[in-house]
Amino acid sequence: MLPVRSSPSTAGLTRGALPDSDLAIRWRSARPPAELVHLDSAAAARSSHAVLDAVTAHLGRESRLGGYVAAEAARPAIQAGRAALAGLFGRQPEDLVFVESASAALTALLAAWRLSAGSRVLVGGGEFGPNLTLLASVGVRVEVLPGCDDAGHLDPVALAGRLAEDPPELVHLCAMGSHRGVVQPVRELASVCRAAGVPVVVDAAQALGPVDCRVDADAIYGTSRKWLGGPRGVGFLAVAPELAARLRPARGASSGGADAPVAALESREAFVAGRVGLAVAVAEHLAAGPERIRDRLTEIGAHTRAAIDGVGGWSVVEPWDEPSATTTLRPPTGSGDQRVAQACHDLLTRHRILVTAAGPDRAPREASAATLRVSPHLDVSAGEIDALAAALATC
Ligand SMILES: *Cc1c(COP(=O)(O)O)cnc(C)c1O
Repeated sequence: MLPVRSSPSTAGLTRGALPDSDLAIRWRSARPPAELVHLDSAAAARSSHAVLDAVTAHLGRESRLGGYVAAEAARPAIQAGRAALAGLFGRQPEDLVFVESASAALTALLAAWRLSAGSRVLVGGGEFGPNLTLLASVGVRVEVLPGCDDAGHLDPVALAGRLAEDPPELVHLCAMGSHRGVVQPVRELASVCRAAGVPVVVDAAQALGPVDCRVDADAIYGTSRKWLGGPRGVGFLAVAPELAARLRPARGASSGGADAPVAALESREAFVAGRVGLAVAVAEHLAAGPERIRDRLTEIGAHTRAAIDGVGGWSVVEPWDEPSATTTLRPPTGSGDQRVAQACHDLLTRHRILVTAAGPDRAPREASAATLRVSPHLDVSAGEIDALAAALATC
């Protein structure tokens, strides 16, 4: 077992300042001022003025010109968004389709894949609970590769061993789960699968933003509203051409046909204004610089963990230097899930601080208790983290 927590001295972390950077200032000034301390980007990040304006402008065109005329006019903007998102996954524009959510992406993919009942699918211990339900609903058998440490990191060597010994039909990997801020070595894990000739699908719903998602996967999917700060109600799925050729989408599902199996996965009726808004959010992400964003989110995570670990008896689950901005907290010893739910409620109603109470159902194969999930974005200030620490001391 590896140690869960890097010692603050080796990680170079102290309970110090989080100096405002240009990136933080620009991210903040691009948005409406928050009416509370918003530390919940892993649930839904705050959209910028430009994203909100793009959505409302499109809705206005739908009303003035008709929904289908407006959609035609929005086509270039949506295509630009498609190309930009595909690029974040290291894919071509024609490999990517828009759906309604990350779950809708996995549903569409599994429906078109038509794995035979009883097929074996290997997942990590931190697999997202609703994904397990979706996999079960198509009749496949789920097997679990446990993490190699207390934090739940997956080990590429252990994965390679498992695939050599007893290869499953498919590996499904959550690059980051919903229940903790642990980042999986997803590029290495995916290349192990590729080398073993086992198809690999990656859930990037939490990872797109904190993690470099240019992964050599057969399929990868995510959602607009989390770290990208796009509108709710939009998700996306990128499929590698080799897998696309094997998919058999239901005919007439969409505008695509037999020669365009990926396009056939795109939902036909859709929140078009949301796709337009997402295109703007992705352009903002690229303009700010994905690598700078990742670095700042890592810095925010380190600062947050150092500032709140141990406060009021709440303890940080992640290693302090985990490269994400998501921090999860276990309640003081002896208190249960109810304490976490109550703290989440009190933080919001008494202190105007928004976080999530993440129940164990989010990762039932790994989590046995709820955690309080804190997920600040680039615009967070040191003062807001101090406010969280002060409030936690009283929870
Ligand atoms: C949020 C989330 C999902 C589901 O995303 P939706 O867009 O709500 O369907 C899937 N996986 C993980 C890890 C998530 O955090």
